[in-house]
Amino acid sequence: LPLESLSYPAHYAPYISNVVIPYGLVLDRIERMAEEISQDLQASCDPEEGLHAICVLKGGFKFFTDLTDRMQSKNCCHKSLKISSHFIRAKSYQNDQSTGSVSIMKLYDLEVLANKTVLVVEDIVDTGHTLSKLIEHLHQYKPKTIKVASLLLKRTPLHNGLFPDYVGFSVPNMFIVGYALDYNENFRDLKHICQISDEGKKKFANKPT
Ligand code: 5GP
Ligand code: MG
Ligand code: MG
Repeated sequence: LPLESLSYPAHYAPYISNVVIPYGLVLDRIERMAEEISQDLQASCDPEEGLHAICVLKGGFKFFTDLTDRMQSKNCCHKSLKISSHFIRAKSYQNDQSTGSVSIMKLYDLEVLANKTVLVVEDIVDTGHTLSKLIEHLHQYKPKTIKVASLLLKRTPLHNGLFPDYVGFSVPNMFIVGYALDYNENFRDLKHICQISDEGKKKFANKPT
């Protein structure tokens, strides 16, 4: 990789301990995921209704855009997949710890999901708690099927057993930032997937309320 592609903004330099997955590698992996997911879903989706992709905000926005873009370009002459975009917000983290209670915020009407093929696009699955809540929430709209793509899956002994159908990378049990993943709303603008330094955790910590 050219050195430049591994550089990161000067304002974050002291707050990152290492690059876990460089941006270029993230995009390479997404390209292959797009191929796999398109192949699977082109076969099962009603062509008129297409795929209904749900971006889980905020952390999922970059993965959602890059994945759905590439899925579109996997369309070939005889088969194509129409993708509709939906947005929902899930929040549970304060600093680098889950608050234990996941809140799901419905931003737009999701009644349209009835009887549709749905793809939930998540940034990272840690304990699986957020994903369980999301899927439970989405069931009320009675979709035909719900598939889940997560860019990252954390290796944790605390996992609840609900795994995504598609995973980009398995990552160690550490706090990850960048590529839209945040630490108290910081680092979303960092291209590479990185590990935050202890200095970073201190610098951007939220004071207890
Ligand atoms: P879970 O509910 O599976 O324990 O955690 C999932 C959610 O917590 C993710 O969607 C993400 O918002 C947040 N999360 C979990 N681990 C990390 C991490 O290492 N970095 C960041 N930025 N968010 C995380
Ligand atoms: Mg998330
Ligand atoms: Mg977050």
